[in-house]
Amino acid sequence: MNNCLLCRDEIVHELTPQEIFTGKKIKQDFLCLRCEAEFHQIKTLHCPTCFRQQDKSKQCPDCKYWQALGYHNFKHQAIFSYNLAMHDYFKRYKRYGDYVLRLVFQTLSTTSITPMATTFYLCTNAEKSLATTTI
Ligand SMILES: [Zn+2]
Ligand SMILES: [Zn+2]
Repeated sequence: MNNCLLCRDEIVHELTPQEIFTGKKIKQDFLCLRCEAEFHQIKTLHCPTCFRQQDKSKQCPDCKYWQALGYHNFKHQAIFSYNLAMHDYFKRYKRYGDYVLRLVFQTLSTTSITPMATTFYLCTNAEKSLATTTI
């Protein structure tokens, strides 16, 4: 039995059929169901360029705006919408260095993100210099 990394409540693990038949725990739980429900996974309909959740799979107004300014070669991939729960998570993880929180999305981020070759723009010193790199 372990506790939720965010609220410290006890986590009750629900067995999957695979776990029942193999007798092995397949997935480690790091969040309780209540905390897990606070994070909203992006559904299939989203902006193809930035993954913003919307009701159609066409490019969103922000991406059109940036492309109108001449930024054509950008792409962003996301798994979750940025909401208050995600804001609080990153505040604890990055600002306060709660390093154990890396475990919360570790498995999901390695299985859901697909590698992509693209150009990244690194803006430094208030847009005075613009560096690009391609991976
Ligand atoms: Zn919790
Ligand atoms: Zn977009």
